[in-house]
This record gives sequence, structure tokens and C-alpha cells, in this order.
Amino acid sequence: MGQDRKRAMGTEAVWAGEDRLFEGNATQVPVVHSVSFGYDDMDEWMDVALGNRPGHIYSRNTNPTVSVFEEKIRVLEGGEAATSASSGMGIISNALFSLLAPGDRVVSVKDTYGGTNRMFTEFLPRVKVDVTLCDTMDHEAIEAEVARGCKILYLETPTNPTIRILDLERLSRAGKAAGATVLVDNTFATPINQNPLALGADLVLHSATKYLGGHADALGGVAVGSRELIKTVYSYREIVGNVLDPMGAYLILRGMKTLALRVERQNANALEIARFLEGHPGVERVFYPGLESHPGHGIARRQMRGFGGMLSFVARGGTYEDACRMLSRLRLAKRAANLGAVETIAGPPATTSHVECTREERAAMGIPESLIRYSVGIEDAADLMADLMADLDRALA
Ligand SMILES: *Cc1c(COP(=O)(O)O)cnc(C)c1O
Repeated sequence: MGQDRKRAMGTEAVWAGEDRLFEGNATQVPVVHSVSFGYDDMDEWMDVALGNRPGHIYSRNTNPTVSVFEEKIRVLEGGEAATSASSGMGIISNALFSLLAPGDRVVSVKDTYGGTNRMFTEFLPRVKVDVTLCDTMDHEAIEAEVARGCKILYLETPTNPTIRILDLERLSRAGKAAGATVLVDNTFATPINQNPLALGADLVLHSATKYLGGHADALGGVAVGSRELIKTVYSYREIVGNVLDPMGAYLILRGMKTLALRVERQNANALEIARFLEGHPGVERVFYPGLESHPGHGIARRQMRGFGGMLSFVARGGTYEDACRMLSRLRLAKRAANLGAVETIAGPPATTSHVECTREERAAMGIPESLIRYSVGIEDAADLMADLMADLDRALA
């Protein structure tokens, strides 16, 4: 007990990786822009180069600022090791290309992030990796495809933009039984709401650009998992050179100190707004896993500590043009493609998550053209609801 007790997420978000003083007794993590790290003692240099003692050689491999960021997310996700990249897509492509070879098979779902979907439909087939994308709502179909054999089972939950929920414990079990490595994009949930490794996954991926950084001012990506898996991803990325820069790492680190505070507020705001929208006669449908009406609510209750800050909705009788009109009237929402920031952000999937797809492809994925994706910020919920209500009431009038 005492100082050995397991610390809560809010404490780790502040302290993990930072429970010591830095160079010159700095209390805050220095931004080390140096490309290389010099050694007067050749034996010491060799030891560091061989990995026999801690230290840095060259910033494409490791960097002190970047390492602190990796340590903080490692602790929050409860893994043995972590490695980062220049963006979320950077870490996703590093993970896939380092773990796969021609002839391998990947099983995933239709609802992954748009860029990830492009990896599955375009870039992996180009190097002779076979990809099967299952209906996101059909766990039996996913299990059946996994049982046919695959190298990677790739999951994302909640999904973008219809906020569907996958059962991570159940699907990780299926992946393990088939000898697959289970990858989970945990960007939407954040480690505050969900820890995929504890549910049986092998590798957790994040677009740190979103909730981890939280202020929409730095791109970054990170993977957390076993030492062995992270070594595989790291040794590929140090050669490919897809690295997070120290300034980006610092900005994300600074954002992460308030991760628990922000996400708890966003969970509460999103639930309140989802309930308000569900009860409003001007709204046809609301997608939010915290609502009892959501098909994934039961699974979400089991595997998530909070339901997250992402929701989407369709206004009654809405067309794409109606959605655009409503979006243009919102005062408390940036109309932009990102998500997970302190300010509320809204947009239609046609210009955000699924800009890579055609209208027909979006329809096939069950994404209504009139859908509005709403990334709830940390503002006051009453102000956000008043902003939404102004337009919904006008539509009914
Ligand atoms: C944004 C996002 C990504 C890609 O991250 P970038 O940092 O933009 O490259 C991957 N997955 C999810 C779920 C995302 O929202």
C-alpha cells in the first residue's frame, strides 16, 4: 500500500514519464531539438548504440522529448512498451507494414477510419496482402473470417462516423484462437475510457492528433503493446523515418496532462447532448453508445468507463443540403475535419472521415448523407444545446 498503490488515470496523465527532474533541474520536459547525442567515451557510445545502457544516439531512432511522450501513453494503456510516429496514419501504416508480408491475410471491418480503409482497399492489396472487410455489426461474420486464418485482426471502436461498438474481449479471443495479432485503434475512446490491452488486444494504436493532444495543434501517432511487438514496429519505423518531431511530442505531452479532465467533461457533455437530441422532435436519429437505444450500449457498458465525446445525428427529413445549412448556422462548432479537441467540431462524413469514399460507398456503409458528426468539446453543455436548439427549433417552425 502507501506509495505502491496503483495510481488513477488522472494522476498518471499528469505524472507518468515526468516523475523526476530533467536537464538543469527543469521541472518541465525540455524540447530537445538536437538531431544527435554526442559521447566523449567510445565505450559508453558503443554501449548505448548496442542498447546495453539507456541513452540516445540519433533522433530518427530515439529522442528524449519523444521518449517521455511514449512513456506517458505506455503507462495509461498498461503496456510493456510504446513507439510513436509522425501522425495517426503514420503509426497505423508502420504497424501494418512492419507486421505483414506478401501472402498474409488481414481481417477488419468496413467502418474503420477513412485513411485506414484506404490502406486496406488500395495499399495492402498492392503488396499482395489479402484484406477481408466484414460488416461492423456482425460479430459472427468477423469470428468466422478470423477462424479461416489471418495474420492480423484489425479493430476500431467506437467507429467513425456512426459510432458503432465492437466487443473487444470477444473478438480478441477469436483472434488469439486463430493465432492472429489483434490491433485496436483506440483514438475515439482514449485510455481514459477504454484499455484494449486489458481486454485481450495485442497492440493499441492512437492518432495522438485527436484526444491525446486535445488542442488540434500537433500531429502524432503512437502504438502500445508487448516489448516484442513494439520492437518490430520500432525497427521498421526507425528505418522508414516516419518519426514524431520533438515539438509535436511536447505539445501532445502538455495536452495529455489534462486528458482525464477533458475526457470526463466530454463524456458528460456528450451524454447530456445525445439525450437532448434524442428527445428533440426535430431529430430523426442519434448515434451515441451511452444511449440505451444504441445497439452497442450493452457492450459499451461492459468495456468502457465512459462513452466518449463523439456522437452523430440526423435531423428529421434531412438531406445533405439541410445538414450543410444546419452546420453553417452553428456558432459553437468549428466546421472542420478533426475531432477530439477542447472546442466542439462538427462536419458531414462526406467532407471529414469518409471524404475518400463516393456517395454510393458511403451509402453501402450505412452512412446517411445528412449525418452530422459532432465532436463534443469542453464547453458548457447548456450553451452547446442552446446552439443546436436554435437551428432544430427553426427547422420545425
Ligand atoms: C484521425 C484518425 C486517424 C488518423 O490520424 P492522423 O493523426 O490524422 O494521421 C486514425 N484513426 C482514427 C480513429 C482517427 O480519428
